[in-house]
Amino acid sequence: MGLIVHKYGGTSMGSTERIRNVARRIAKWARAGHRLVVVPSAMSGETNRLLGLAKELSPPKATAASMRELDQIAATGEQVSVGLLALALQAEGLEAVSYSGWQVPVRTDSAFTKARIRSIDDQRVRADLDAGRVVIITGFQGVDDHGNVTTLGRGGSDTSAVAVAAALRADECLIYTDVDGVYTTDPRIVPEARRLHTVSFEEMLEMASLGSKVLQIRSVEFAGKYRVPTRVLSSFTDWDIPLDEEARSGTLITFEEDEKMEQAVVSGIAFTRDEAKITIVGVPDRPGIASLILGAVADANIDVDVIVQNVSHGGRTDFSFTVNRNDYARALDLIKTGVLGAADATEVSGDPKICKVSIVGIGMRSHVGVAAKMFRTLAEEGINIQMVTTSEIKTSVVIDEKYMELAVRALHRAFELEQPA
Ligand code: ADP
Ligand code: ASP
Ligand code: MG
Repeated sequence: MGLIVHKYGGTSMGSTERIRNVARRIAKWARAGHRLVVVPSAMSGETNRLLGLAKELSPPKATAASMRELDQIAATGEQVSVGLLALALQAEGLEAVSYSGWQVPVRTDSAFTKARIRSIDDQRVRADLDAGRVVIITGFQGVDDHGNVTTLGRGGSDTSAVAVAAALRADECLIYTDVDGVYTTDPRIVPEARRLHTVSFEEMLEMASLGSKVLQIRSVEFAGKYRVPTRVLSSFTDWDIPLDEEARSGTLITFEEDEKMEQAVVSGIAFTRDEAKITIVGVPDRPGIASLILGAVADANIDVDVIVQNVSHGGRTDFSFTVNRNDYARALDLIKTGVLGAADATEVSGDPKICKVSIVGIGMRSHVGVAAKMFRTLAEEGINIQMVTTSEIKTSVVIDEKYMELAVRALHRAFELEQPA
């Protein structure tokens, strides 16, 4: 019998009826003799609702003090969930106890709204497990060294769950969600998308970082670092399906490269609308310019993703980069006021209506012509590529946002992802 961590996302926790089903599923596992720690998210829509309220009353410019309050507010969604789930489990006849992040404690740094977990104290949890209780711990939240409540960024309950599993050296971390596994791409965009039985840790890491929100990227990092056996599966199957069937369902993240798994050159397609592009025109082509521009952006704590510098004409060139869409206005303003003059550039323009589409696969390491096929497919659809970035196992393109779904569908077809591997 094992120690298992279950994670339930917002939709799975979306109503009292759904919470009751979650409780029944957990009870099934507990009655089979497993020791269980459960990490639920806030009920669906709740975190958005809370952050919406906060926005109405927030000062115009975010400060460390206002960010602290955002976390204080956003973390309450999960606190309600754990209490409700504990009650539902008690109603099922199980002993259950719920904890907020600070009660465990789940210790994080002080980066409000995107805190990182530093350590998890397992003593209290182990004592409860030893006493035969199901332990329920809030997703998404922790506490910093000064006793402030922190949150881990959107989708952070995945990370809470995998981190808890790592701290407890759990036998498995099961991420229950509203799809029955990791697909070749988001099945909401491509209905023909196919579920992967396994996905390598490296591919999952790329897919998560390139926009597949089925797992938060930091949860995949934790899974890799601590080798936590992690599986994504559905919370919408009947709660009373046989346990061994459930335990084998979904998508398992694997850590060893398997010969068979390498058959597919491209395993999945990820996309994100979260980016915006800034182009600085007429930049002198001399050493130090990229550092001047990107240094100013980094000093403002804005992350840069894709960077492209064009070939120069007459000693001048264009320099483009992308940032998160939330940072777009700030980044554009910063370049206009602080960088344009200093860099002796002509002008700056921006486009917040771009998206990034990526193909991912460890098979790309050993195959040539994959990027060329991607570009050809997009060309055949009349889609212009604005920027390109590659790594060993992915190629990403920045394109006009209005072509995003068309691009994803065309690539899914071109790489034959709907066919069984
Ligand atoms: P939860 O609330 O359970 O954390 P999320 O909404 O965060 O659920 O993540 C699940 C969603 O991720 C799915 O409903 C699906 O639309 C989306 N998704 C994006 N890419 C993929 C993919 N490659 N495979 C499966 N789901 C994906
Ligand atoms: N409730 C948080 C969010 O909506 C965390 C999560 O669901 O994983 O982002
Ligand atoms: Mg999620």
